[in-house]
Amino acid sequence: MQTNKIWLSTPRMGGNEQKYIQEAFDSNWIAPVGSNIDYFEQNLEKYLGSHHVAVLNSGTAAIHLGLILLGVQAGDTVICQSMTFSASANPILYQGATPIFIDSEPETWNLCPIALEEAIVDSMSKGVTPKVIIAVHLYGTPYKIEAIRAVADTYSIPILEDSAEALGSSYKGQKCGTFGDIAVFSFNGSKIITTSGGGAIITNSATLKNKAIFLATQAKDDAPHYQHSEIGYNYRMSTICAGIGRGQMEVLDHHVGLKKAIHDFYVELFKDIKGVTVFEVPNANYETNYWLSTILIDSTETDGITRETLRVALAEENIESRPLWKPMHLQPVFCNYPYYGSSIAATLFDNGLCLPSGCSLTQADCDRIRVVVLKLFKK
Ligand SMILES: *Cc1c(COP(=O)(O)O)cnc(C)c1O
Repeated sequence: MQTNKIWLSTPRMGGNEQKYIQEAFDSNWIAPVGSNIDYFEQNLEKYLGSHHVAVLNSGTAAIHLGLILLGVQAGDTVICQSMTFSASANPILYQGATPIFIDSEPETWNLCPIALEEAIVDSMSKGVTPKVIIAVHLYGTPYKIEAIRAVADTYSIPILEDSAEALGSSYKGQKCGTFGDIAVFSFNGSKIITTSGGGAIITNSATLKNKAIFLATQAKDDAPHYQHSEIGYNYRMSTICAGIGRGQMEVLDHHVGLKKAIHDFYVELFKDIKGVTVFEVPNANYETNYWLSTILIDSTETDGITRETLRVALAEENIESRPLWKPMHLQPVFCNYPYYGSSIAATLFDNGLCLPSGCSLTQADCDRIRVVVLKLFKK
């Protein structure tokens, strides 16, 4: 077995990160205040255009604050895409609210607008209007922007846009992170840029941004002593992490290019292998950041080779791959909450695999992956 492991998604530093961290040390701002935070926020705001950004210590914290800013309280109902990482849904429970999970549509693998509307109508017929819709851009692919917005507006329900995986993606030229009433990014170690751990909340007003920062820094009222009129959180990003983020913003576009090249490698690798489809966006309106390259395997066309056969074959050569996100309505912790839709998300989970897509993937790594794939599929 090869000794060095090929990981699913590894961080890649641009080069200036340590310089910005050093600035924090030199100015002795080793705290969740200071210029790295201001610069990182300004860089993100410039990147997005006209929006307001507050950086936090995780994407999960950003989703939690987003729900709070959208008014979610104990006893409320929140709609959430089922096929996603658990961090999209956990904050609903932090607030004491109840999730309703929704199936995916097959084109982007994100929130199905038909099942979404069905869930809202059914909920309203029982006298409950859902408070928020959490829509996710899975693997960097934008959800059906217009269709989801149309449903949300019909019933006047705000959208919390989980763009944790989609910094660098856009739809019709508009950047992901700017479609929701509130949006979030994640800078966790596996994401397209990383601050080791971190996140951001994106709002369309300076007032909401300031409210997010207020809540993220223990909700301290304006007084000489410690005075609190609201429940606060310790969710702000540190200047050290923001220094990494400043450096990473300089290489974001480069990372998107690297990820695209990895996607192209897989398209080429699987092009003559029957039953294996590399995910492609539905049309040219969708611009993905290619965060992770993913495939679907139809084992009726591969002599019984499943995504699990391929995953194990790769693992035997010390290459990491992962099944697609297991839908929330199938998770032990969430399976008793309502679910609307059919089995699109479940089928994607059964047949889908995420392949190594780290920005530091080398030609030698690609060669190792190719050998395993061609041997398994007898090419
Ligand atoms: C990574 C991720 C999150 C959570 O972000 P953290 O920074 O890890 O807390 C939320 N939603 C999705 C879809 C993610 O992929």
